[in-house]
Amino acid sequence: MTTSMIYKCDLCEKEQDTEDQFWALEVYLDHYPIQRYPQSGARLKVDACRECLERLQLLASMKEREVEREANKQLKASLAARELSLGEKLENIIKEVIEVTEQNKEKGD
Ligand SMILES: [Zn+2]
Repeated sequence: MTTSMIYKCDLCEKEQDTEDQFWALEVYLDHYPIQRYPQSGARLKVDACRECLERLQLLASMKEREVEREANKQLKASLAARELSLGEKLENIIKEVIEVTEQNKEKGD
């Protein structure tokens, strides 16, 4: 008997057979002053593939890295200008993680 492990992205549901290029994405929310004990913050966690992290702009894509390596200062400036702010990135992540969490609840996971 052989056993194999399948890694499935919680965001896009694509499957892969290795854990390479696979990340745990966790959003932790707490208010100030932060109280570590007892932990009062909300924690949302999904496992995500590289493609999804690139889409959420949490990892630079292969193409962006290549462009950045070869780009002149003007091109770098234009790439920086279209980059999402940290707040926008966080908002997108939270929306997507909440959506997946709700879908998983509906599935009964
Ligand atoms: Zn994915």
